[in-house]
Order: sequence, then structure tokens, then C-alpha cells
Amino acid sequence: MDEVDAVVVGAGVVGLAVARALALAGREVLVLDAAEGIGTGTSSRNSEVIHAGIYYPAGSLIARSCVAGKHMLYDFCRSRGVPHRNCGKLIVATNEEEAGRLEGIRQRAAANGVDDLRPLTAAEAQAMEPALRCTAALHSPSTGIVDSHAYMLALQGEAENAGALFVFHAPVEGGRATGEGIELRIGGAEPMALRCRLLVNSAGLHAPALARGIEGMPAAHVPPAYYAKGNYFTLAGRAPFTRLIYPVPVPGGLGTHVTIDMGGQVKFGPDVEWVDRIDYEVDPRRAEGFYAAIRRYWPDLPDGALTPGYSGIRPKIVAPGAPAQDFVVQGPSAHGVAGLVNLFGIESPGLTASLALAEHVLRVSAEA
Ligand SMILES: Cc1cc2nc3c(=O)[nH]c(=O)nc-3n(C[C@H](O)[C@H](O)[C@H](O)COP(=O)(O)OP(=O)(O)OC[C@H]3O[C@@H](n4cnc5c(N)ncnc54)[C@H](O)[C@@H]3O)c2cc1C
Repeated sequence: MDEVDAVVVGAGVVGLAVARALALAGREVLVLDAAEGIGTGTSSRNSEVIHAGIYYPAGSLIARSCVAGKHMLYDFCRSRGVPHRNCGKLIVATNEEEAGRLEGIRQRAAANGVDDLRPLTAAEAQAMEPALRCTAALHSPSTGIVDSHAYMLALQGEAENAGALFVFHAPVEGGRATGEGIELRIGGAEPMALRCRLLVNSAGLHAPALARGIEGMPAAHVPPAYYAKGNYFTLAGRAPFTRLIYPVPVPGGLGTHVTIDMGGQVKFGPDVEWVDRIDYEVDPRRAEGFYAAIRRYWPDLPDGALTPGYSGIRPKIVAPGAPAQDFVVQGPSAHGVAGLVNLFGIESPGLTASLALAEHVLRVSAEA
């Protein structure tokens, strides 16, 4: 049976960052992905926002990796010429109840080390964004946008330069813990078996299923998988805003916000739709909810301006209505299986957090 030092399953943005970090640390790395190329899963189905680190519980892995990852991502993009823009965002309240929640959001951000949020009156916010209607707002200057595909290509390039190998059309179907590592069963056109000393399970939506498929991995440590789909609608024509506009968050997501990608395309979303299976179709009938949500802060949105865009699915590990989950990076000290690191629940802001998460995985791998 062939042997390799480290295998990363999943060439999404997080798996790519992990593969790069492992390769730069001198490990022999093989990246396996079931798809035909990098970033075909959640990593190409998101808002492409560099999040500031505002909303998450202080001290959580999600908060720490978002804030650290944001700085690392800006540095990475600047030094590698990856297209990005530090455009800033406004979090807008559209009634008194929401306005009353802005100060709590500001304090939570400050507890995460994001101490640059500035409260704005309605007039100040509207001076910055004339199309906007709100009762009050917060300005987040460190939020931005990134060309996520260019970023992923840069990660892949650096991983390859450091010796990592990528194999596509390589679905990992299961495995067995040997006590010294993992034996993997790989399907596809040329099925094979492979032994590795370290397996990083970065399979996104499929990470719980892959962990469950590894003989010896205790089922009690594998979380359930829930899917919270987020649909996007696009706007034809010019962007009405120069910054990102976010409502006050809603349960399960950040609310139907405005993002602009590096190509200038304006997108609204994502909403929250709990689903039982992975299906990326956007139901045009959902437009009605979008018009209502967007007109709360942009009343001039013309009828017929929205077109179904795309969707992404949040890899939730807690049921609808449960308190928000943290990122889970699980090594042997948590589950007892030598040579295995599982990443569960890497939803937003996983793109922003990717470089910091990769460093965290490196530390957890050292114990594996
Ligand atoms: C609607 C939405 C909006 C978001 N917006 C933002 C945002 O604006 N900013 C931000 O920072 N984050 C955002 N995120 C989060 C971010 O997109 C994700 O955290 C990130 O893309 C996760 O990357 P990943 O590598 O873990 O997973 P994925 O990109 O899903 O990659 C997993 C890979 O594993 C492969 N795979 C799965 N199973 C197997 C197997 N058995 N064998 C081989 N390969 C396998 C898949 O083919 C896939 O390529 C958003 C997420 C969603 C859903």
C-alpha cells in the first residue's frame, strides 16, 4: 500500500490553506478532492467578504481565527497581488428596536479586539451612502471583499511550490485508524488504498460523513450535519452603494446584506433556508422575501431588478434554533484517534479565517 506523510481531504479554501501551511512546515502533503478542481464547494458559494470579526462570542475559535485571519488575509492579498478591497461596511438599524441592539454589537466586537466600530446617526450614514434609509448605523472600516478564486489559486500555487501534490476526482470513501495513522479508501475511476500518518478532514459539508466513515473514530465525537442554505439574488446595473450594507443580524445568519464583488457585481443575500439535501437551485419565488428585506434599508429598489443568482450551504453542526456553533478543530486529545484532525462546522467566516485556521490546524496536528 502506498504511504504518504500527510493527506488533506478537501481543496476548498480551508483545505488549501492547511495544505500550504503543512507543506511550508516541511511535511509531505497530498491533497485529495472528489471534484474536478479547487474550490468548487462552499468556497465558491459565499459572499467573498473579509469579515472584521464583529459578531462572535469573545474567546471562541471563530472569533479568534476571524480577527487574526483578517489581518493575515489582507497581508497575504497585498503581498501576492490578490485582488481585494478594504471597502468597509455599514451595519444598519431600520427601527428603534434594532438601533438599541447596535451598542451591544459594538461591545461584542470590542471584546474580540475589533475596537474600530464607529456609531453613526442616520444623517451621518446617509451622507456616506445616499441611497440608504436607516435610523442609526455602525461603520466597520476593516471589512472588505476579496476575489476568493484568485486567493485560492495563490494558496494552491504556494502549496505546490512547497511540494504539495493535488489529486482531483479522488473521493475518499472511508478509512481505518491503525493506531499509527489512517488507511484510506479512495474511489473514482482508479480506486486505491493509501496509508498516511496524518489525515486532515477538511471536507466541508461532508466532514461529519467522512469522519463517520473512518473505522475507529468514536461516533460520539462526530457531530450531526445540518444544512442551512443561503440564496443570493443579483442586481442588474450599477451598484447603489460603495460599501457593504448589512442589516442587524437575524437568527441563523447575518441577514440579507449587500455585497459587491471585485468585478462590480452587486449581490443580495444570503437568506436562511434549512434544507435536507445539497441542492444549489435558487427558487425565483424567494425574490419576494428579498424585496421586502432589502427595501427596509433601500426603499428605492426597483420592481423586477433582482435575478436569482446562486446559493451556498452553511455546514451547520447544531439544529435550527440552537445557539450558534463554534468552529471545531478536533485532534487526538479530543477523539483519541492518532493521526486524525477533523474540521467541523467551518461556515462563515471560514474564508476570512482560513490562514489563521491553518495555523491552528498545524498546532493540533503536532499532537496527532
Ligand atoms: C452562504 C455562505 C456565505 C458565506 N460568506 C462568507 C463570507 O462572506 N466571508 C467568509 O469569510 N466566509 C463566508 N462563508 C464561509 C466560507 O465560504 C466557508 O467557511 C469556506 O468556504 C469553507 O471552506 P472549506 O474548505 O472548509 O469547505 P469547502 O469549500 O466546501 O471544501 C470542501 C471540499 O471537500 C471536498 N470533499 C468533500 N468530501 C470529500 C471526500 N469524501 N473526498 C474528497 N473530497 C471531498 C469537496 O469537493 C470540496 O471541494 C460563507 C458560507 C456560506 C455558506
